[in-house]
Amino acid sequence: MVRKVFTRGMNYQLIPKELRSVAEKVEAQRRISDADALALYESSDLNALGMIANAVRERKNGNYATYIHNRYINYSNICILSCQFCAFAAKKRDAHAFEYAIDEIIRVVKEALALGVTEVHMVGGLHPSLKKDWYLELLQRLRALDPQLHIKAFTAIEVRHLAQRVFKLPIRDTLEILRAAGLGSITGGGAEIFDPAVRDKICRGKETAAEWLDVHRTWHSMGGRSTCTMLYGHIETIAHRVDHLRQLRQLQDETGGFTGFVPFAFEPSQSHGVLANIKRASAFEQLRNLAVSRIYLDNIDHLTAYWVSLGLPLAQVSLSYGVDDLHGTILEEKIFHMAGATTPQQQTIAALEHAIREAGRVPVQRDSHYRHVLQRSSAQNGAPEKAALACA
Ligand code: SF4
Repeated sequence: MVRKVFTRGMNYQLIPKELRSVAEKVEAQRRISDADALALYESSDLNALGMIANAVRERKNGNYATYIHNRYINYSNICILSCQFCAFAAKKRDAHAFEYAIDEIIRVVKEALALGVTEVHMVGGLHPSLKKDWYLELLQRLRALDPQLHIKAFTAIEVRHLAQRVFKLPIRDTLEILRAAGLGSITGGGAEIFDPAVRDKICRGKETAAEWLDVHRTWHSMGGRSTCTMLYGHIETIAHRVDHLRQLRQLQDETGGFTGFVPFAFEPSQSHGVLANIKRASAFEQLRNLAVSRIYLDNIDHLTAYWVSLGLPLAQVSLSYGVDDLHGTILEEKIFHMAGATTPQQQTIAALEHAIREAGRVPVQRDSHYRHVLQRSSAQNGAPEKAALACA
């Protein structure tokens, strides 16, 4: 496949003096430093940040903007931990606790397959009593539904929970067994903010940064691919964000296994304790964070705007601030909505494509590894072109 390279040069007159050296590095395709990233985060010249981020975005992804046709499944919210930021988790006795039977999950995924989804994205809490056989049967029955369906499941913390408490095996052996049962890739969740002092305040007892990174390192060493995330907009500083991005960039230098980065802003509606009274990250802050991430993470090809958190209108704007992917149809999001998100729980392909076209980009359906599977016309009538790219 030959991708049309679509790049617009930077107009240095529109970039403030203090950011010009960073812009020059980006234009020369040189890596920016942590100090550069801090300077970017400290800048309030959002359009200059967008211009620099856009240069990286268009160099890597041309004028394409992708989305995936996927279905979210949260198999259970019952969790042995109680992360302070999490409004999703429950104890078995809680009224809002839920746990789906495998038959119910299979029924829902069958319906989604009939709609054309290519991926099921499945995470849950650290369940205290589900057994190894339950997880394996679930994966095997999902795999049997459609061998082409990509099963993206489990955060690194769920993988550690399964390895240590359920399978009682090393991480690698656990991942091998899960893969043999049908696992296609692991999710990027659970990273939060890597700094240990912040972690201790927002998710005490959760895996450390080193443990999160080690699960992904192991998965990548097995030839697997995954995404990575950051939860920001709570009690962290911009130095903590840069530290988080640095650790992701370092692992990517080592393994090359991350396909995309997906930052989420903290959803504060239900927060209490150390997270009480935190204001939701503004639109300005969300765009700035996306732009800085795009500029800093020079070795991760894709940047996803998670519309569940941003809302589709802001996700659409972010296509000019470094973003090249609008995530997916999702079909039923629970985690952010239980925390109070007011965005819809799903999007149609038509809505995602319309948002992309209106932003002047070319919409393309992608697979779980961001590979193009179907190119649609950017013509005004919106009629789909013949599938042009088929590497799924
Ligand atoms: S964030 Fe995950 S691990 Fe933490 S309480 Fe919620 S479900 Fe459990």
